[in-house]
Amino acid sequence: MFEFLKHITPKIKILFLSLFFILIPGAIISYLSLKSIQEKADNQSIKFHGTTNLVRDKLESKLYQLETNFRNSVIDSILILERETEIQTLLQKLDLEYPAFTNLLLVVNNGALITDLLSYGQNKLVSSEPSSMQLKQIFTQAENSEFIEKNYTGAIDLYRKAYNSALSPQDKVIIHSRIGRNYYKLGRFKQGILEYELILVHANESTSIGNIPASIAALSQIAQGYQESGALNDRNKILLDLYRQLLHHPWDLSGGDYLFYLNAVIQEIRELETSLAIDSLEVRIMDQSAYIQHIESEILGELMSELKHITSSEIIHKSYQADPGPAIELAYFIIPPSINQAQFLALAFQFDKDYLLTEVFPRELAAVELGKDITVGILDETDSLVYLQNDLQLSSYLVAENFTQFLIPWKVALFDSTGKTIEQLSARERHLYLGLFIGILAVMFMGIVILARAMIHESEISRMKSEFVSNVTHELKTPLSLIRMFGETLDSGIVTEEGKRREFYSIIRKESERLTHLIDNVLDYSRIDSGNKEYEFEETDLVEIIRHSLEAYKFHIRDMGFEIESKMPEEPVMIPIDKDAISQAFLNLLSNAVKYSEERKHIRVEIVRETNSVLISVRDQGVGIAREELKKIFDKFYRVPNDMVKKPRGSGLGLTLTRHIVEAHSGKIEVDSEPGRGSRFSIRLPLT
Ligand code: ADP
Repeated sequence: MFEFLKHITPKIKILFLSLFFILIPGAIISYLSLKSIQEKADNQSIKFHGTTNLVRDKLESKLYQLETNFRNSVIDSILILERETEIQTLLQKLDLEYPAFTNLLLVVNNGALITDLLSYGQNKLVSSEPSSMQLKQIFTQAENSEFIEKNYTGAIDLYRKAYNSALSPQDKVIIHSRIGRNYYKLGRFKQGILEYELILVHANESTSIGNIPASIAALSQIAQGYQESGALNDRNKILLDLYRQLLHHPWDLSGGDYLFYLNAVIQEIRELETSLAIDSLEVRIMDQSAYIQHIESEILGELMSELKHITSSEIIHKSYQADPGPAIELAYFIIPPSINQAQFLALAFQFDKDYLLTEVFPRELAAVELGKDITVGILDETDSLVYLQNDLQLSSYLVAENFTQFLIPWKVALFDSTGKTIEQLSARERHLYLGLFIGILAVMFMGIVILARAMIHESEISRMKSEFVSNVTHELKTPLSLIRMFGETLDSGIVTEEGKRREFYSIIRKESERLTHLIDNVLDYSRIDSGNKEYEFEETDLVEIIRHSLEAYKFHIRDMGFEIESKMPEEPVMIPIDKDAISQAFLNLLSNAVKYSEERKHIRVEIVRETNSVLISVRDQGVGIAREELKKIFDKFYRVPNDMVKKPRGSGLGLTLTRHIVEAHSGKIEVDSEPGRGSRFSIRLPLT
């Protein structure tokens, strides 16, 4: 299989080795470069992560500092608080002084919550009892008449009687509300409303009905009275009043009463489609009420049980998952129980993210200089960019690191100023080396294919050459031994008969002519191969040359049993040619026609003059040539492998030489052949 390797020339070997010794190191270098680019990208990523961590730590230490100052200030201020009622003023002051924090929420040990505007469940109003025994007795009778006897008019009379002995505003408020209630039961809403309106006159901050501030209860009853009596306009006016009262006097209610009223009224007002110009304070109250309500229902229980276990005054950050709703991030710290306001348990708060993003972070990051190509940004919990060190519009970041202590769901990210990712940064180099690597592999592959083909070709040539040597040697030996044999015979004088002697002389002459022809071919080939072949062009009659060549061999060929037919123009065809070369080319075709004919020994030689060219053709009826061989027969040393009974000897040079000669005359050689039927070789020379 690797037979051809034996014939590799040193030139090919050198090419082959240089291919390996140049390209293989090239491929290895490109591969290593690719690897080192990957390592470089990894190192860069580690470096970016390190930088991001440093920036994150800087921001966190600033937040820590802000928080610590805030906590100390809260504890110090509570310490000097003189009256509990001042707590809301203190919270308002803290809110202003520490804009980085918001939603300050004081947790009281009974589970009450206090903000700067609202307090929730702190000072619970207790339902008041009538103040004197006498009143109590009348109240019992009146309730009896109202609830058991269903005698509402009687109940009203009894309450009116009690009014005379009422001492405190609280007593009066309760009596009015009961009279009003009985009027409503009688369906006398107008009178009932009048009674409730009187409550508004007497009510103060501490009066209550049930455990609800008296004025709120009265207003809501009046609204209901109007509704029942169909006076809807009046009802709506009262509702608005009630709403304003609720917003501007955020009473401390027990449980969720305040919020219940507020929400109920807001609901009604919305239904009325009344557009109220809500001021910023009202907005804050509504926000806080929603916030408190949410904390109370979703977090307070968990928070209170946590607070029981915390002793130190560290600041705790936690994210509470409310269900449904988004997680709430809360920070809180214990207020040391030793200080005089012992009922205050802890202060919870949140970061004011807007303030952090617009004030704190820009100030901190102003001192961070990471070079003109790198920018710091902050990503929120949805990975959206909420802050960027400069005004660029960037979307993809290099690396991002989570905050570890504060703002847990947020991240600090590093951005390339052109918005590239780490992969994109090294992509150009990577592509370059990858391209180089693939290119080298492709060149190597192509080189190997070309070399392999060249090697096969070389080995083929070399095989043909050795065949040529053995053929030529034989070709030389045959005529030489004939010449020698007949020469010796003649020399010995044995042959006396004149006819025989002439025949022997003729054989010697023909064999030496054959020898000359063969040697001419070989010599010419070697001249052509070394580029030394020169032609001498001379205006000559082509017909004359061909006829002469044919005549010289005609008898010899006829002797071999061939029938020769020729057709040539009468008049000369003058053309500049190298006489000997053209004659040699023609004789090559003629001798092939003889060699490759078997039983049908017929040769036709023709010269045809056409408009611009002259055609010399030799036609035989011999073995013919297969179509796929037609191209190869003109290659040096090539001989068609055939299964003729007696394969003629040959050098494989005849047609190579013929083509060379014809082309040197700016002509063309054409072949037309069919296996088993014969061939026609034509030389076409241009007529200038
Ligand atoms: P060779 O010395 O073998 O004749 P040539 O170069 O003259 O070398 O021819 C090349 C090959 O072409 C021959 O070996 C033969 O197979 C084929 N060939 C040439 N002339 C003819 C022809 N007239 N008929 C059939 N085959 C031919």
